[in-house]
Amino acid sequence: MPTPHPSSSTRLRIHRPRDQHPCRMTKSATLRYNRCPATVFEIVVPELPEVETVKRGIAPHLVTRRFKNVIVRDHRLRWPVDPNLADYLVNQEILSVERRAKYVLVRLATGYLVIHLGMSGRLYFVSDNTPVAKHDHLDWQLSDGQTLRYTDPRRFGAVIWISGDDVSSHKLFAKLGPEPLLEEFNAEYLFKRSRKRKVPIKSFLMDAHVVVGVGNIYANEALFMAGISPIREAGSISLARYTRLVVGIKQVLDKAILQGGTTLKDFVGGDGKPGYFKQELQVYGRGGLACSHCAKILQEIKLAQRTTVFCKACQR
Ligand SMILES: [Zn+2]
Repeated sequence: MPTPHPSSSTRLRIHRPRDQHPCRMTKSATLRYNRCPATVFEIVVPELPEVETVKRGIAPHLVTRRFKNVIVRDHRLRWPVDPNLADYLVNQEILSVERRAKYVLVRLATGYLVIHLGMSGRLYFVSDNTPVAKHDHLDWQLSDGQTLRYTDPRRFGAVIWISGDDVSSHKLFAKLGPEPLLEEFNAEYLFKRSRKRKVPIKSFLMDAHVVVGVGNIYANEALFMAGISPIREAGSISLARYTRLVVGIKQVLDKAILQGGTTLKDFVGGDGKPGYFKQELQVYGRGGLACSHCAKILQEIKLAQRTTVFCKACQR
């Protein structure tokens, strides 16, 4: 596994060992400019497949255990961590671990512990006596002697408590579109939802009100698979083409989750770098290179400030 540059918490498009990288940007500079002057790359935050991998990785170690203790070392995440968090959790049994959009939901009898990884959050297990490092903001000690640890150098992540047995009406979730891997996300839904919409199809797909979890990489790849230009108006695409697009979206996400599954061992006793994985991509990161279908040069543009790569010949 190559070491990502410049922050170990950030997965970058181009992986190189730190000491081979010509650029010496600081972490804060990278965050500000999103660009390294020496080479082209883009910061990639945990997306739906990574969060699904985290969920699958931690679930077997949580379900049926109880919370023994909660330690909050730094409550200054994206939103302040509830000072009463331990009161909701301690002595409660964990019933299941679920996911909605990019949130991990730990279900208890009385409510949900909701965790978002933000840009750089990581969840992994350590034994109770493992020394604490600088960015280890939360520990959940469990009844079996293990501790679930949350590390987040940039603190854009979130840890919140939602009471009750339904999170769907909570303000975080109420306006979200369907999950892309469920049946309710289908061509008919996208076709109906897109009528009269003049927004480019790529921006439409990346709108969480339309569908959650189709991040920039996946939107680029799925549009290539479906032969649809990313700049085409969403409202001008036929039902038949949306059918191909939905297949592409589900395939590219499924494949990423499958690849993530091979890293599950990293969640326990590892170095806290779980679940982020390199993928074989057909267009994203390949601007200026030959299209794998027709060998013409792939175009790279900015669309809504996001890197967009496509083949003018294969995508209409
Ligand atoms: Zn092509």
